[in-house]
Order: sequence, then C-alpha cells, then structure tokens
Amino acid sequence: MTDGVSDTPANAGTVGPIPIEGVTTYLRCPRQYEYAHVQELEGERDEAAATIEDRVAILKTAICDALDRDEADRDRTTLLDAARARLETLWEDHDERFHSVAQRRHERRVLEATLEAYVDAVGLEHASGIDRLRSAIDGGEVIGPECSLSSTQSLSETATADEGDAVTISAPIDYCYADGSSIVGVRFVPTLRPLGLLRYRSDWEGAVAEQFTDHFDPEADVFEPSFVGALFETAVVLDGLRNRCKRFGLEDRTCRYVQIPLADRSRTAVNWVQETVETTLEPIDLTDRYVDHHTYGMTHEHRNRTIDDRLERVVADLTAGAFDPTDRWEQLSSEVCPDCAYTVCCEDYIAAEVRFDG
Ligand code: SF4
Repeated sequence: MTDGVSDTPANAGTVGPIPIEGVTTYLRCPRQYEYAHVQELEGERDEAAATIEDRVAILKTAICDALDRDEADRDRTTLLDAARARLETLWEDHDERFHSVAQRRHERRVLEATLEAYVDAVGLEHASGIDRLRSAIDGGEVIGPECSLSSTQSLSETATADEGDAVTISAPIDYCYADGSSIVGVRFVPTLRPLGLLRYRSDWEGAVAEQFTDHFDPEADVFEPSFVGALFETAVVLDGLRNRCKRFGLEDRTCRYVQIPLADRSRTAVNWVQETVETTLEPIDLTDRYVDHHTYGMTHEHRNRTIDDRLERVVADLTAGAFDPTDRWEQLSSEVCPDCAYTVCCEDYIAAEVRFDG
C-alpha cells in the first residue's frame, strides 16, 4: 500500500497524487470524476455549499493560526483570544452578501460560538498534544490548515496494471498531535452527514463491514459512496501518518484519524432576544470504524485489508480510465444526477433523458 519511507514518494511508474476527494467523486459517478478531474471542466457552482465552505475555511484558519502561536503559558483564555482575534481580521476581509447588517452580525456570533465550543471540547488538549509532538520531532510541519498526507497504492496485483505501477493518493488534514502512544491526524469538515452509518457505529465489525461489502456487491441494493469514501480517506490518512511517523523516528506510535464538524447547525441554540448563540462540537474518531481486528492482529498497525484491497482496485479502475457510469445507472441517476454540476453537458444524462422522453 505504501513505500513506507516518505509521505510524498516519487517512484518510477507512480501516478498522482490524486486527491482523495476525487476518489470519492469517482465512487459517486465515474463520469463526474472524468469531467471534474480529467477534463477539468468547471461545473455549475453550488452557491450554498460554497458559502458554508468559505465560512469553515475562516474558522479553520483562525484555529490553526491560534494553535500555531508559540505560547509559554497557554490556557483556555489565551487560546480563545488568539482564535477570536484572528477571526476578527479574517471576517473583516470576508466577502459574503447578507440580507442585513443584523444577519452578518448573527453569522459572526455563530462563528465565535463555534470557536469557543472547539476550545472547550478539544482545543486546549490538542494544543498540548501539538507541543508534545513538536518537541518529539524537533520541528517539522504539524499544523495547516490543510497539510497534505499521502499514501501510495501498488497496482501490481490488479488486472489492468503492469508490474511496479502505483498511484499516490493525497488527503488533507489540518493538524496532527501526540496523544499518549498515538499520533492523531485532525481534519475540520463542515458536517459529519456524509459519514452516514459511521456516525452511529463505533466498530468496523458488523454493520459497517456489511454496508461496505454490499456497496460493491451488484446483487445488493446498496449505494453509499460517501460512506465508502470516508473509509478510503481514513485508510489514506492513517497510511500517510505512518509514513510521516517513520520519517520522524516515531514508528512505535499508532496512528488515528479524527474529523471535527464546524458547521453543524443542529447543535446550535440561538436566543434572539438576548442575541446570544451557543453551540457544541462533536468530534468523531474514525479509526476504530476502519480498523479490523484480524488485520490489526497480523500487522499490529491500524489497517483493514478489506478496505485497503478495495481501494487499490477502485484506483486501478480510475487510472485505467473506466468512466462509464451505466453499471450503477439506476442508483446514481436518482441519487447523484439531480445535484450534479454537469447535467447540461453530460452525454449519459442527456441520452437517458431522451430515452425517458421518447
Ligand atoms: S449528470 Fe449524472 S451521469 Fe452525468 S456526470 Fe453527473 S452524475 Fe454522472
């Protein structure tokens, strides 16, 4: 799965890096991947999603910059003050159209409440873990936003590849920190909704394993590309962290992957009279949902043979240019096409519409 030396390998016969977001797009619809990542066509912009992403980007930057400050006596107040001060500057430059001044003020309050919720939930603990990791590795990049980790998938075992062919997949994290015997990669995301079943189960064995296998079973009526994509992403992040640990002489550490949602409004309470906003954050550790006991017993590393093998096969298809989406047409035409940015130019979609009309 990996070269085991560097997180940015450059082996002969290695393609990439392909972003993990592209692999998830490929799972959703291979043609959509072709348009977005091969032909690099610009699709119609989803304004609502872009607005949320912009706000999350502001929060990420404010948090990462506050964590990155070299403070001798860091506590809740200094961390929160640093993040708030950075937010203020970023917000002043933020170009977003609001209906009113009151709405702009309200959105700012939501972002401030999110910063406070982050610091209270995990921020201070993670800041200490970053300091511990930095002193263990004597410098080195541990804070983003968006440091890139990567994993190299050997394609030698797959039918379409030649001996020595490999593909590098990259995955962004926002920072990593030391927690006991583990190195933890953290990524800020808008919400945990794309994780699907992973939000409600804590282990791989059982329902998670079953849904993963069923997604690839043509006989099963299961289509869960975002859920599968999250497990692939976990595999890439953990492998990238392992590579980084090897480089820093921390091979004895296990690796973990945590996502923190920054735009989950379902946990936000607004008092419109007092003009206050309160919110809470619920980080999710995806490691145990990914690791299977059997592979862990064989390797003593946080790995899952079923997921890793399947990732190799999907990546082999992707690099071989297998972009025909008709295999799963029934599912993707009802679940993916309605929100796709390429409906106006997609021949598969247009052909299906003409068949339907005719
Ligand atoms: S319109 Fe449908 S088939 Fe075409 S790229 Fe989009 S999701 Fe895929």
